[in-house]
Amino acid sequence: MKYSAIVLAGGSSRRMGTDVKKQFMQLNGKAAIYYPLMAFEKSVVDEVILVIPAGDEGFVRHEIVEEYGFKKVTRIVTGGAERYDSVYNGISSASGEYVMIHDGARSFVTVEIIDRAARAVEEYKACVVGMPSKDTVKISDDEGFVADTPARKSLWVIQTPQAFVRSELLDAYATLRSRTDGFLGITDDSMIIERAGGRRVKLIEGSYDNIKITTPEDIEAGEAILKRMAAVSSKE
Ligand code: C5P
Repeated sequence: MKYSAIVLAGGSSRRMGTDVKKQFMQLNGKAAIYYPLMAFEKSVVDEVILVIPAGDEGFVRHEIVEEYGFKKVTRIVTGGAERYDSVYNGISSASGEYVMIHDGARSFVTVEIIDRAARAVEEYKACVVGMPSKDTVKISDDEGFVADTPARKSLWVIQTPQAFVRSELLDAYATLRSRTDGFLGITDDSMIIERAGGRRVKLIEGSYDNIKITTPEDIEAGEAILKRMAAVSSKE
């Protein structure tokens, strides 16, 4: 098997402040997690491991995987305390040569972005999807004053999917586990490879629409993106 996707929906959605977790909230009449699962279903990926919160297995299996007939979802596994724990649970039960890790809350990923990441990981062995920063970014000091302003032309805002050779990512986890504070401040998958060393990670273009649904304002923005995507695909 060549490509396994790990779709992460194991978070508790604290920042959304609603009873329904953001990955299961309705977007244009379907659960937010439906959209990325459909993109992976139509992509070159061979299998999808869906990572979900403990206790949601029955709901996810019946109301999402069976309801929409996702054939590529081969396993549903329980997430861990931190995002990188959930990723580890996913990659441990994957069997592809390459793993592609995706935030389930990024509903607007497209088949084109997934296929681009698949080609890039084959060529570079590690890649992350992102977009050049449109804004100037400043580094703050501990007192909230500007400490530095990095050159905008070298700044990228990082999204998912992020794709790696599965055995290399597992080795990188083992390396970080052997260090005190190995996982301190880890916010994406690339950082695990970067911190373990030994492999350069290629940046490839995603889309400015590939946002992560995090706070309530993102739901409205997300519905507008879906309408635009539907209008484009009906013209094609
Ligand atoms: O919290 P954040 O927005 O960074 O989460 C990114 C993705 O990782 C979400 O899709 C969330 O469901 C998932 N996640 C997870 N396990 C955790 C924390 C987050 O699967 N422990």
